[in-house]
Amino acid sequence: MSKVESRRAEMSRVDGFFGEFGGQFVPEELKPALNHVAAEYLKVKDDPEFLAELQYYLKDYVGRPSPLYYAERLSKSLGGAKIYLKREDLNHTGAHKINNVMGQVLLARRMGIKRIIAETGAGQHGVATATVCALFGLDCTIYMGEEDTKRQALNVFRMQLLGAEVVAVKTGAKTLKEAVDMALEDLAKNYRNTYYMLGSAVGPYPYPDIVRDFQSVIGIEARAQSLEQFGRLPDYLIACVGGGSNAIGLFAPFYHDTSVKFIGVEPGGKGCHVGEHAASITYGMPAIIHGFKCFAIMDENGEPGLTSSVAAGLDYPGVGPEHSFYHASKRAEYVTVTDIEALKAFQVLSQMEGIIPALESSHAVAYAMKLAPTLAEDQVIIVNLSGRGDKDAAQVFELLNKDN
Ligand SMILES: *Cc1c(COP(=O)(O)O)cnc(C)c1O
Repeated sequence: MSKVESRRAEMSRVDGFFGEFGGQFVPEELKPALNHVAAEYLKVKDDPEFLAELQYYLKDYVGRPSPLYYAERLSKSLGGAKIYLKREDLNHTGAHKINNVMGQVLLARRMGIKRIIAETGAGQHGVATATVCALFGLDCTIYMGEEDTKRQALNVFRMQLLGAEVVAVKTGAKTLKEAVDMALEDLAKNYRNTYYMLGSAVGPYPYPDIVRDFQSVIGIEARAQSLEQFGRLPDYLIACVGGGSNAIGLFAPFYHDTSVKFIGVEPGGKGCHVGEHAASITYGMPAIIHGFKCFAIMDENGEPGLTSSVAAGLDYPGVGPEHSFYHASKRAEYVTVTDIEALKAFQVLSQMEGIIPALESSHAVAYAMKLAPTLAEDQVIIVNLSGRGDKDAAQVFELLNKDN
């Protein structure tokens, strides 16, 4: 086994729990579907042929490895630690999500499945899923709350352009939760010929493991690039946390490097009351939602609470079980950045480096901008630049004009 493969193997688990978090809290009729995926995944995860195929598409289709770029002007303007950006924004389709869907679509192909389903809120995971389905000529159905289809009309068009069928879910509040329910219902009925593509390191076992493994390419590369470019490991890793896939992908390969500190940045939104933020670890409590145990934002009725963030991709009331465990065991620290701070970082990175970050990634940049000046010049921070901000330009334009 190569070094890279052995690092992956070392991280994998089979019981689905990270401390007390994770698991598979689902109706009985869903268990066969999930266990089928788990069994098939265990067959391929260390198979050299599967990994070579994944490697081929990550290189020639996604454009990996993504650079680890020294943001010199930003670092010098802050006067402290050196800030390096892991450039996931340069991937095909503009974010880290493609790493995960590429892995999962190859898994589905290995399973002989020709029909893919997914759910999407902001539309980004739907677009990534539709992209790889087009690449392999697979039938693709995306469930999306009707409200979200209106808010994200352009992403609906992108998915349709890529050949996907977008189903507008009209039940309940007509948002992500209802779309998840529809997708799970579909899966329970059709799992023999249908693969459910999950978009973040959340959900019941085996999804948090699968998504972590496929996103770990970020951290595996960043670790090797650190040793090559500055001859040692970084002092800090910083990443934004929605469900937690880009963050866990960066962090997990450094898990045993205890000198490397992990900071997950949660969306602080507009305030600390339920409905004003989406900071599941900072303001939430341990609970079971969407089939797994994690820190979650709950309302007084014991239901997932309302959330808010300027970054649609971070707007989720739960967080991955592995992050919940990292928090409980103090392996990582979780902090918040407000909408206003993220908007500021969006502009600063654009002006200092000529890189327009996604609003999600701007949360991580904002925290790095606070931390760097408190550190010495020989210290190194790696910020995961999870995506590019072109998708957010119109929204930021409106927000900035509203303020003036
Ligand atoms: C979806 C998304 C996120 C949040 O998802 P995670 O699973 O927490 O990584 C962050 N950044 C970008 C650019 C996204 O599209």
